[in-house]
Amino acid sequence: MDMWYTEKHSENVGITMKVSRTLFSGKSDFQQLDILETLEYGRMMLLDGLVMVTERDEFVYHDMITHPALFTHPDPKKVLVIGGGDGGTIREIMKHKNVELAVLCEIDGLVIDKSIELLPSMSCEIDGSNPRVKLHVDDGIAYIKAHQGEFDIILVDSTDPIGPAEGLFEEDFYRTVFAALKDDGIMVAQSESPFYHAEIQKNMYGNLRSVFPIVEMYQAFIPTYPSGLWSFAFASKKYHPVRDFDRERARGRDFHTRYYNEDLHLGAFMLPTFARENIEG
Ligand code: SAM
Repeated sequence: MDMWYTEKHSENVGITMKVSRTLFSGKSDFQQLDILETLEYGRMMLLDGLVMVTERDEFVYHDMITHPALFTHPDPKKVLVIGGGDGGTIREIMKHKNVELAVLCEIDGLVIDKSIELLPSMSCEIDGSNPRVKLHVDDGIAYIKAHQGEFDIILVDSTDPIGPAEGLFEEDFYRTVFAALKDDGIMVAQSESPFYHAEIQKNMYGNLRSVFPIVEMYQAFIPTYPSGLWSFAFASKKYHPVRDFDRERARGRDFHTRYYNEDLHLGAFMLPTFARENIEG
């Protein structure tokens, strides 16, 4: 018998996928975690019933949360990821050989454990085998308060602003991130869908602009996220992601990326008008 999973994106619209089996279903102290085997998108992780990653399209999200910042900063050595317990963002950071240390601070140990067990293509660098990676099971807000002035780059790879991630979209949090960055540090955070989440974006970018001198939105196409059009916030103390971008360094990278490239880096910051309007002051 066919099983179908549906995530509602609004009261009247959703995405539906055929599923062959459930690999894990359980509740942590923070959220409901399900990992399903789909027919077209490979293994898929859900948190509280919402798609977090699928094996087929995760490369878009993980390339784009990572490489624009790591190719804008001239020499990132210490990077922090908040959330991101599937490991995909850390896997991409590890492709940058100049990074000496990447710290993953994920609030939910169950997400890390089950990703290591069931999503090896994403979690390959968080399984304890890489000495350049450190794991902390902790609230990102608490962790960052205790590590001021330490990081070149902070990537906020979080869930939506409800439940444990709510505080990760607030001005107070961005002030703590600002203080946890070095003087030329950069933060990138996933910033929802311009199509469905205009109100969240307006608040989030307003909060970011009251803290960081440089704030830009960029976009990526992610088939399994609401509307397919997703966005990221680039907030920086010094380097601008377009004006200070060294295209030749990105072009000469010594690793493969399936989505990111030096031309797309620039194109991603060119926004459709309605998306621009979401974040105008
Ligand atoms: N790619 C996904 C997306 O945008 O749909 C997000 C990946 S998911 C692995 C995000 C992770 O953020 C979850 O595992 C969740 O437990 C974690 N998270 C949420 N709030 C957090 C917090 N305050 N501190 C650390 N991690 C948090």
